[in-house]
Parts: sequence; structure tokens; C-alpha cells
Amino acid sequence: MRDGRELHPVTGRSRLEIEMLAFQFLFSCAPECARAPGRTPVLKVFEDVLPEMGFRSLVMDMPEHIHGFTDPSGMTVVLNAHIYTAAENDGEMARFAVGHEIGHAILHAQELQAKGTQLVDGRGLKLYKRHEIPAYMDPEWQANAFSAAFLMPAETMRSLADARGGRLRANVVSSVFGASHTAASFRLKDLKIPFGGPPFA
Ligand SMILES: [Zn+2]
Repeated sequence: MRDGRELHPVTGRSRLEIEMLAFQFLFSCAPECARAPGRTPVLKVFEDVLPEMGFRSLVMDMPEHIHGFTDPSGMTVVLNAHIYTAAENDGEMARFAVGHEIGHAILHAQELQAKGTQLVDGRGLKLYKRHEIPAYMDPEWQANAFSAAFLMPAETMRSLADARGGRLRANVVSSVFGASHTAASFRLKDLKIPFGGPPFA
């Protein structure tokens, strides 16, 4: 098996395309989160929905810096035990990491199934020379875009902003959707939702 550190561009997808795929998938597996602002049940999707789609969902002890990996040829999605536990406890970074692996499963497993590549995720991993792949063909960029859209759907972000006079603060997004402050800030910028405003609004 190859070690996953090679270049493996995937079919190019725009942010909007990923947004739509993530929303359709969310609607099919957690419709309440597609309708109203709330916390996407990422572990329920990992444990219950992926197996219904033919994936094996595993939790394993791995080196600390690894978050998890997706093995397309084995249709297997693996979370490091500490990420699973952190996600169980509503840890925001862990929730995003679970959403990222779900993104690989939905977006990439089929396409990479025959190639024997693994998508390994964690801190400080330079899997390949990413500048050699345009972002829209980079599976890591795509999985991050998927996770952001899956955890913070554009529809419900906008409805929450509308209910608050058209503006949203990152800390509000963070607490409502269970995303980190950083991920919430990026999402607000990507969706061009005015942010800031009075403290604790
Ligand atoms: Zn990844």
C-alpha cells in the first residue's frame, strides 16, 4: 500500500458545488439541522449513516498528532480515539475533524477506491506538495469546505443572521453550531455575512 504522501488530485469541485453536496447530505441524514440552526450530529453520522452507505466506521488509538484517515479502497473511515472522545464532549476542533473525514467519505472514497491511496489527517502533516494542486482539485481543501458547510449550513447561518438584524458574531456561530471561533470566522467571511456588532449580541 502506498503511504498516502503522494500527490492525489481529485475531480475539481467549486465551493458552491461542495456546499450543495454537503447540504443535500445533511438534509438526508439530519434534516432538523438543515431546517434550523443547530449542532450537526457528526458522530451519529459517522457511526450510523456511513455504515448504512457501505462504509466501515472505526475508532482506533493512533499517534496523538493523527486525527483520522479515510481509506477509500477499504471503504473505511477511521477516527483517532482521542478525537472521537473530544467530539463526544462537543469539542469544536474534533467536530470539524469528524466532518472533514465524512467529507472524504462522501466526496472522494468512490473516486480514489481503485488507486490505493489513503487520506491521512492530523497536525503538522504535509502529505504532498499542495501548491502543485489547485485548491479546487485538492481533496483536503474540498474536505474542509465540506466540513464547514456540513457543520454551518449556509441556509441556517443566514436565517440566524436574519433573526439577529443581518449580522452575526463568530462567538454566536461557535456556540450555536459547535464550531471553533476560527472556523466560524472563516465561514462568516465565505458566506459574506456581516460579522462583528455589539459584544455578546
Ligand atoms: Zn483530509
